[in-house]
Amino acid sequence: MKKQLLVATALIAAIPAAFAQTGNSRPQPVVQPHVVPLPADKPYPGTMQLKVDATDVARGIFRVRQTIPVAKPGKLTLLYPEWLPGKHAPRGAIAEMAGFKPSAGGKPLSWTRQPTDVYAFDVDVPAGVKSIDVTFDFLSPTRSSEGRVVVTPAMMNLQWEQVSLYPAGYFTRQIPVQLEVTLPDGWTGAAALDGLKISGNRYSFAPTNYEVLVDSPMFAGRHFRKWDLGQNVTLNVVADEAKYLDARPDHIARHAALVSETVALFGSRPFDRYEFLLALTDELGGIGLEHHRSSENSRSPDYFTQWDENDHIRGLLPHELVHSWNGKYRRPDKLWTPDFRTPMQGNLLWVYEGQTSYWDLVLAGRSGMQSKDMVLAEWATHAGFYSVQPGREWRAVEDTTLDPVIAARKPKPFASWARGEDYYNEGSLTWLEADLLIRQATNDAKSLDDFARAFFGGREGDWGQHAYDFDDVVAALNAVHPHDWAGFLRQRLQMPGQVAPVAGIERAGYRLAWRDAPNVYDRDRMAQAKNYDLTHSLGMTIDKDGIAGAILWDSPAFKADIVNGTKIVAVDGTSYSKDRLEAAIRAATDGKTPVRLLVERGGRYRQIDLAYHGGLRWPHLEKVGSGPDWFDRLLAPRRQL
Ligand SMILES: [Zn+2]
Repeated sequence: MKKQLLVATALIAAIPAAFAQTGNSRPQPVVQPHVVPLPADKPYPGTMQLKVDATDVARGIFRVRQTIPVAKPGKLTLLYPEWLPGKHAPRGAIAEMAGFKPSAGGKPLSWTRQPTDVYAFDVDVPAGVKSIDVTFDFLSPTRSSEGRVVVTPAMMNLQWEQVSLYPAGYFTRQIPVQLEVTLPDGWTGAAALDGLKISGNRYSFAPTNYEVLVDSPMFAGRHFRKWDLGQNVTLNVVADEAKYLDARPDHIARHAALVSETVALFGSRPFDRYEFLLALTDELGGIGLEHHRSSENSRSPDYFTQWDENDHIRGLLPHELVHSWNGKYRRPDKLWTPDFRTPMQGNLLWVYEGQTSYWDLVLAGRSGMQSKDMVLAEWATHAGFYSVQPGREWRAVEDTTLDPVIAARKPKPFASWARGEDYYNEGSLTWLEADLLIRQATNDAKSLDDFARAFFGGREGDWGQHAYDFDDVVAALNAVHPHDWAGFLRQRLQMPGQVAPVAGIERAGYRLAWRDAPNVYDRDRMAQAKNYDLTHSLGMTIDKDGIAGAILWDSPAFKADIVNGTKIVAVDGTSYSKDRLEAAIRAATDGKTPVRLLVERGGRYRQIDLAYHGGLRWPHLEKVGSGPDWFDRLLAPRRQL
């Protein structure tokens, strides 16, 4: 009440000044009242019923019916989830929600959307009503230009935050909800939800709470197979075609080894069960999204059937599994929020994602999911990139933790200067340095394994959340090995203008070296993407159609005004091919011959001579001297063999 009086006084006081001035008209802002109830840690009175009809595969339309108990008449604010865990950003799919119709006892209820919060719907609840019904449709994107495709003729990815609303005013863990979903005939679904009862194609689950529901998505498909990986972990796979489910026993054994290595690292499990949801597909929108007792993963259809060609993409499942500990069980305090409306702050994502990116490679190596060559090649690629990325000059790694909010993963014109979500891979290299520092200071008696067990491990089977801050990370590191960890982390992660993050590589007995052929990671990912990554020579990547992208700031391509989207039409007067360009770059190493390109942009053609004579260059890790290979120690299996 006092606050409103003050505002009114301020407005009145402003009026004479507005008349007195002789410049342009200058309005005052309208005072917007805060009208969405803040979340409270108290039980919601009653259990929501959520029924999802997911049978419309042809159109990708999910039909939703929700029954929501209400305690009193008046305004009820329903929220569509906005801030999504794992995305660390306001990415709720509100634009795809349509046909919202609340009713009570069959009578329509009036509603309005809050103009300053488009995720909030106010419904007028009449007196005497015990519950309201809500129906709406989720119009899932039918092509990627509309958003991520979640339904294909062979599979679907059900994310409950897309097909449900929740009442404002409560912690989501305090809102009971009971789910029933109808799948297409003959399809099988998997989700980390308990109390499943199947009746025909109807799946119903025991009541849970809304936080757990949103954290427990479902993959369903026409072609489905599952494998027990031990430790109460199951690998559930859907595929575009049945033939892609043909995994060999050795493939499954490596996934089981991954689970054993991960549990051996952390010492306990922050789950009672864990479901890998894996889609082998060219059609479903790509995903790698962590949850506490499951993860959503997609890989190319030949994940199993072309095993050797897919070494470079097998880091995803290790990554998402580690998140059950690092990210879900242990969560940065400002990233944990009581509902899906409170903004998340990602400043410690260099732990959440950075150390997860470190462990995914280490555990992939220990389990045999990936070869040592591949693990080292991936670090080489990241170290190579950060040794030239100019944006490091102005932007600290920690500032890039805001990039999910700033950029929402949309393509950038000059990403190497703007920087992106660098807390993943620069974080990984920073934790490699920390690990080697501990190992070498303690004669290999201690390592980052000890930190992982102490910090991310916990009470067996506790799948709640345990929040932490920067000081907790520093204290846990100091408990393993006393060092100026606060200074170590602040300098590398919170300050811009750092040297290339290669100290861990050098401590391991290696150096970053340059060769005229790609490392195995770059080789395989170029083969899969059908592109040509010339970041370290011409300073661009060229796709299969000759279109340039990822222009490196201040590179030869940049200086020749090549931008993302410029088409490389010809090399030395002959139509572009990867081989022709490679030959031209090699020929230019004589120090005189330019790399001559014909380029096109917007219907305008230019011939350009790139005075680049450095040859083809890709980053590699090279062993130095005859000292110990610390990578062998780091990647040695720990599970009982
Ligand atoms: Zn992650």
